[in-house]
Amino acid sequence: MQITDIDVTMVSTDSWGEFVEFPLVTVMNKYEEYRNVDGSNPEARRKWMGPVGDVVVEVETDAGITGAGHGTWATGAIATIIEETLSKLVVGEDPGRREELWEKMYRATIPFGRKGAAIEAISAIDIALWDIAGKEAGKPVYELLGGPTKEEIPCYASNLHPVDHETLEREALDYVEKGFDAMKMRFLHGPEAGRQGMKENEEIIATVRDAVGDDVQLAADAYMGWTVRYATAMVQRLEPYDLAWVEEPVIPDDVDGYAEVRVASDVPISGGEHEFTRWGHRDLLEAGAVDVLQPDVHRVGGITEMKKIMDMAEVHDVPVIPHVGTNPTLHVIAASTNAPMAEYFPIPEWYREQQDKESTYSDAIYQHPPSPEDGTIPLPDRPGAGTELNRDALDHFEYEGED
Ligand SMILES: [Mg+2]
Repeated sequence: MQITDIDVTMVSTDSWGEFVEFPLVTVMNKYEEYRNVDGSNPEARRKWMGPVGDVVVEVETDAGITGAGHGTWATGAIATIIEETLSKLVVGEDPGRREELWEKMYRATIPFGRKGAAIEAISAIDIALWDIAGKEAGKPVYELLGGPTKEEIPCYASNLHPVDHETLEREALDYVEKGFDAMKMRFLHGPEAGRQGMKENEEIIATVRDAVGDDVQLAADAYMGWTVRYATAMVQRLEPYDLAWVEEPVIPDDVDGYAEVRVASDVPISGGEHEFTRWGHRDLLEAGAVDVLQPDVHRVGGITEMKKIMDMAEVHDVPVIPHVGTNPTLHVIAASTNAPMAEYFPIPEWYREQQDKESTYSDAIYQHPPSPEDGTIPLPDRPGAGTELNRDALDHFEYEGED
C-alpha cells in the first residue's frame, strides 16, 4: 500500500464558544487583561488563544483506504508544517511503516519542532496511519496494540468551571446522578488574587466535596496558573479534601518545581497534557514530578509515541490518565493495563439550557463520539481509530485562517 495524498482541514471552535468563555485560572492569569475571574471577561481566553480549533488530517492511499486524525489548537501552524514539510516525507511511502515514518518526521522537524505544533502535526498523521492499519486489518486499533485490557472504559466528568457555588453544586450532583464516580473541577484564582483568592479556591473545592460526598473521586485543575510557592501553600491547604489529584500546578517546563510541589503535601500531583514526546515525559517521570501522568495523544506524537510513554510510566509505577478522551485516546487506554480511566467533557446542563447545544464541538466532527453510560464508555468495536468524519460538521466548522 502507498500513501497518495494528505488532505488538511482547519476547523475552529470560535463559533461554538464552549469552555473558552468559562471562568477558571489559566497560565495567563498573571496578566489582568487575560483573566476571567467572575465571568465578566468572557473574551479573556480568546484574546490570547487565537482561533481555538483542530486540524483534521486525512491520509489517502492507493488501496482506497483513508485514515483520519487531528492535531489541536495551533491550527495554521500545524497545517503549514504538514503541507510544507511532512507531506513530502510521507506521500509515496507505505503507511504501515509507522515507526520509521514517525522518526523521519521527528528528525526532519527538529530545527523548529521537538515540542509544540510540529509534534502536533506528526500526531495527526500518526493517528491517521493507525486508522489505516485498523481499517486494513478490519480491527479496532486497540486490537493491534496488544488487545483489550478492560471490558469498558471508566471515565471521569471533566468540567465544573467555577461559575458560582450553586451552579457548581448542581453540576456535580448531576454527574453523580448520571453515574460518574469521578470528576474534575477548575480552580478560579492564582497568586495574583492573594490570600482571599486562596480562600475562594478552597471554598469551591469544599462546595463540590460536600455536594458529592466522600465516595467520589474529585480532581482539580490549576491549568499552569500557579507558582511553586503558591501551589505548595494551596495543596497543603487542600489536604483535608482527599483530592484524586491537583493538575498542572505550575508551567510544564518547571519540572523541578513540579517535584517540589509534589513532596510538599499528601495531595497527588498530575501533569503532562502540555508535554511532548517520550523525551518530555521521561523528564517528568525521572524527576518524580507527577503521581498521575496525562499525555495527550494529539500532542505527544500520536499513538506510536503514546504507547512508549505508557510503557515508561508503567516502569515508574505512575498511572496514566490521558488528557482528553477522544476515540484514538480510548484505543490506547483500552490496550493499556496502566490507564484506569478516560477524561470525558460533558456539556453542563446549565450551559446546554443557556446555549441550546446538544453536543460538544469535538464530538460533532466525528461520527461516533465517546458516549458514556453510567460513567463508562463501551469499548469501540469499529475497525480503525474511531475517526470517521462527520462531513456536515466539518464543513460547518471549517475556516480558512483569516479570522
Ligand atoms: Mg488540564
